[in-house]
Amino acid sequence: MSAKIRVTVWGEYVHEKKHAAVAKIYPNGMHETIAEGLRESPDFEVRTATLDQPEHGLTDKVLDQTDVLTWWGHCAHGDVNDKIVDRVQTRVLQGMGLIVLHSGHYAKIFKRLLGTTCSLTWREAGEKERLWVCNPGHPITQGIDRYFEIPQEEMYGEPFAIPAPDETLFVSWFQGGEVFRSGCTWKRGNGKIFYFRPGHETYPTYHQKEVRRVIQNGARWASPEGSRWIDTCPNVPVEKAPEKIVVRGETLHVPGEAGFR
Ligand code: ZN
Repeated sequence: MSAKIRVTVWGEYVHEKKHAAVAKIYPNGMHETIAEGLRESPDFEVRTATLDQPEHGLTDKVLDQTDVLTWWGHCAHGDVNDKIVDRVQTRVLQGMGLIVLHSGHYAKIFKRLLGTTCSLTWREAGEKERLWVCNPGHPITQGIDRYFEIPQEEMYGEPFAIPAPDETLFVSWFQGGEVFRSGCTWKRGNGKIFYFRPGHETYPTYHQKEVRRVIQNGARWASPEGSRWIDTCPNVPVEKAPEKIVVRGETLHVPGEAGFR
């Protein structure tokens, strides 16, 4: 494993080009601001990738050199090529970490890996959000007090249609009264997944120090611990069995044959 954690920050980069209000807060794109937050720590080597690049910037080569991928998307989830979703899913199962941010709850890759609709309730009213720490001992909540607040955010509320998380690290309360599981972790295959709620495009959320801190912590936590597991479903021939065995009956499967790997 390299000395630095290699993070690829993926951004849809559509709102910033269409809406002046978003471009004002994120002049170089939200992905560049998220990347800037990660670059504040010497632990990371950060690159960015966007939807409009060939293969959405997520070539095999880029993913080979990625320990953790962060994902922000919203209005163009449907434009993400299914082949790239397959590729990212494979890499996660092999051990790459994935941090899904805000409206990425509806990203193809998130729904694919979790297997549920990932829907939620929402309201755009510039409410205050208070994020409560559920586990002060977890690596992802380090440096955060009992809670922190974001002055203005979009409300996301329960029910959040996700499979039960391995851990719920933050619960949000919104000014209007709703609550939401806003920091959740899962493991899929060999890869760790962290969903972190904040980050509506019309607010300066990714400039806020606590938010940056949590994303940094998340990237450290999600980075692979062991080696990459490339799953080829290998056949183990009789002579390689640990105990001596004799083939009995018909054998139908030919290793390497389509459908019988
Ligand atoms: Zn939003």
